[in-house]
Amino acid sequence: MTRRMDGDGDGRGGAPSAGPGHDAVAVPASVTSLLPGLSEIEPGDLRAWMIEAGQPAYRAAQVADGLWGEKAASLADVRTLPATLGDRLEATFRFDTLLATDVRDADDGRTERALHLLGDGASIESVLMHYPARGERRERNTLCISSQAGCAVGCPFCATGELGFGRDLEVAEIVDQVRAATRRLAARGRRLTNVVFMGMGEPFLNIDRVLAAAAILTDPARIGLGARHLTLSTSGVVPGIRRLTRMAPQYTLAVSLHAARDPLRDVLVPLNRRWPVAQVVAAASEYQAATGRRVSYEYVMIEGVNDTPADLAALADLLRGRRAHVNLIPMNDVAHTPWRATPAERVEAFAVGLQSAGVGTTVRRNRGREVGAACGQLAAERAGEPPAGAVARRRALLVEESARALRGERSAAPRGIERP
Ligand code: SAH
Ligand code: SF4
Repeated sequence: MTRRMDGDGDGRGGAPSAGPGHDAVAVPASVTSLLPGLSEIEPGDLRAWMIEAGQPAYRAAQVADGLWGEKAASLADVRTLPATLGDRLEATFRFDTLLATDVRDADDGRTERALHLLGDGASIESVLMHYPARGERRERNTLCISSQAGCAVGCPFCATGELGFGRDLEVAEIVDQVRAATRRLAARGRRLTNVVFMGMGEPFLNIDRVLAAAAILTDPARIGLGARHLTLSTSGVVPGIRRLTRMAPQYTLAVSLHAARDPLRDVLVPLNRRWPVAQVVAAASEYQAATGRRVSYEYVMIEGVNDTPADLAALADLLRGRRAHVNLIPMNDVAHTPWRATPAERVEAFAVGLQSAGVGTTVRRNRGREVGAACGQLAAERAGEPPAGAVARRRALLVEESARALRGERSAAPRGIERP
């Protein structure tokens, strides 16, 4: 594993610097870190700002070139702008809302995990995965991004869930994860092909900003990603799925299922107590019907918990006859659980069982295992190891809850882990 500090977000978007001939005024970072990110300002609003500032409207296009052009790391790099205008922009907006980015390579350089520091000290993660061209298949570069700092849903196997909820990300904080990755890719002559909202957070609990970011990412004049190359993943926020269905975009919808039976899903995806699995799948099927897009179902496999013959039968019954695809993911050992990943041969057998029930299934190999595949791991490391007593209590509770769930009983126990 290698580590390096990535220069491209390194605080330069933060503090306004006085241009030549100006008195340097130190603006506290706490003020500058709250300025809106330029990447979330609509092109028309930026033009209006320029006109208000007595500037020709074409200056907005020059800023846009710098923002979306993959080369500039700060406004100072946008050479077409007069320095005084650069200063005024920097006193009003942030060119980059990611103050610093710590990049770690794994998987022989094919996976890059980035820990981003935000203006208020929160940290989030994004993961860039490179899939070389194979046969007919073109090379893919997929970025997994975060929608929130932390997550309130609290799935017990997830490092982000264990951290609890921090805050929603701003539109620019979502988009700037993508800008940072496109700059790193461009430096190697590569292009971003896919974006998945599978990092930290529950996208549909920050849906206004996630949809605004998605619109920017798929705008040909900005990031220009094909709508089908953008995946929104949800743990089952039914009103969010319904809202997306009314919009009927071509985005890919991924549903994190992890269990087909309510008592077990209550434990593995606590949101299930609010929106039970049948409602989630019904809403996802409506999205499929409205858009013609096949829904993918994510299923993290946990030995002896959700990989039993009864789970296979329940999952097959739930999805049979729907245009759905299941991704089986062996659990990554990142959170403080009493559980282990389902062994590979059992995952394969589960896949074969689903396929023979007519449910399309793929086994997803975990990427970046050596640095902890599921997002939230780096931020969890940063939060520090929780006290041993809290870990032991959590494990005992999960053993008890999952045993109850396997007997078909529903539980209403609290979750999360106490950190001092
Ligand atoms: N909150 C959304 C999106 C972010 S989580 C959601 O849950 O869908 C994205 C994915 O990370 C989830 O589908 C889950 O499958 C995966 N994940 C979380 N913890 C994991 C772990 N320990 N091992 C493997 N995958 C994990
Ligand atoms: Fe939140 Fe998704 Fe992790 Fe569950 S799996 S805690 S919904 S980020």
